[in-house]
Amino acid sequence: EGMEPKYRRILLKFSGEALIGEANYGIDPKLVQQIAQELQELNRIGIEIGLVIGGGNIFRGAGLAAAGMDRVTADHMGMLATVMNALALQDALERLGVFCRVMSAIRINEVCEDYLRRRAIRHLEKGRLVIFAAGTGNPFFTTDTAASLRAIEIGADLLIKATKVDGVYSADPMVDPNAQFFPRLSYDQVIARNLAVMDATAIIMCRDHSLPLRVFDMHKVGALTHIIKGEDVGTLVSR
Ligand code: UDP
Repeated sequence: EGMEPKYRRILLKFSGEALIGEANYGIDPKLVQQIAQELQELNRIGIEIGLVIGGGNIFRGAGLAAAGMDRVTADHMGMLATVMNALALQDALERLGVFCRVMSAIRINEVCEDYLRRRAIRHLEKGRLVIFAAGTGNPFFTTDTAASLRAIEIGADLLIKATKVDGVYSADPMVDPNAQFFPRLSYDQVIARNLAVMDATAIIMCRDHSLPLRVFDMHKVGALTHIIKGEDVGTLVSR
């Protein structure tokens, strides 16, 4: 239908906050449904999709640690939060008829599969959407880093980060009306200017493995499809 996708295999990263929507805590099922519908469309045209979801809508390790909790325990809770989000999205996708697997970096076998790289790639080749849960499986890391790691492991053509604004700015555009928009950036510019794109570990992973990264506004309906076609939506971070 006139669409020649530029990318065949992508890794998409959402923050946990993206799932809150109109709920005041946790997950808004309507929003999860909307996200699932956009993914269904990409899956239908044969794009291989890996997903990483954060857990910030439920728990963030750093926040719990700041309140006095042991950091490693707090990070375990954060990782488990990402598993809950992954299950919610899997459920929404399956109700739309999209075949989908949650693969966790920590073993919770009654709930989902373990992350095994070869098996993940096999799922993708068979047209199944794969949700990578529990981040990297290690405390002191983030789901941004997990997204760059999994993207590189599965050989994704593009890492896509969904945010609340339409790309990368010199300052938070919701706070500073003079914030400058950057359509393109190099990895080193992101690091040198300390731009809020992804955390530095994730950016350096992308840089060292020449993985292009696109940042876009997930509230814009259809934006994901435009990105897959190769259109200039949001900000592209590359060499
Ligand atoms: N986390 C972790 N290791 C990882 C990924 C995540 O320990 O590899 C924990 C960490 O506590 C983090 C929480 O899981 O705060 C939720 O992930 P993140 O903060 O990245 O979620 P987001 O901000 O994207 O919603």
